[in-house]
Amino acid sequence: MSADELTDDLHGVAERRLRRVDQRYTSGRRAIVELLVSAGHPVSIGDIAEHLPDLPRSSAYRHLTDLQAAGLIRRVAASDEFTRFELAEDLTEHHHHLLCVSCGKVTDVTPPAGFEHQVADAVSDLAAAEGFEPQSHRLDVLGLCAACQ
Ligand SMILES: [Zn+2]
Ligand SMILES: [Zn+2]
Repeated sequence: MSADELTDDLHGVAERRLRRVDQRYTSGRRAIVELLVSAGHPVSIGDIAEHLPDLPRSSAYRHLTDLQAAGLIRRVAASDEFTRFELAEDLTEHHHHLLCVSCGKVTDVTPPAGFEHQVADAVSDLAAAEGFEPQSHRLDVLGLCAACQ
């Protein structure tokens, strides 16, 4: 499948998921999804304002809330001050984040399979002790990026 076909497919998924929560895939929402795809990393409200100058900030916030409710995007944050958004993991691939608590920089990291197996085993043990059935995990590392140290 070409990159364009993948993106077409993503827009189809976006439309269906929004319809499930009685929302339409408006041009504003589509522009945000396209920005998340092309950025390739979590984007902030400031990034959205910069790349989509015609989209009022209040609309951007509303679209982000609705896209999140539809399960299309998720919040990535070291703190409220540095909130960013990325496509939901089932639309991309499993990964983790390095979050700088000083400047808000977010780096996506995809650990090797061995790391994921160890995490999955440790999570299974923790969850089993509570009679809990794990489905996935999130692991964000907080700290200082190279520039902020
Ligand atoms: Zn930093
Ligand atoms: Zn993982």
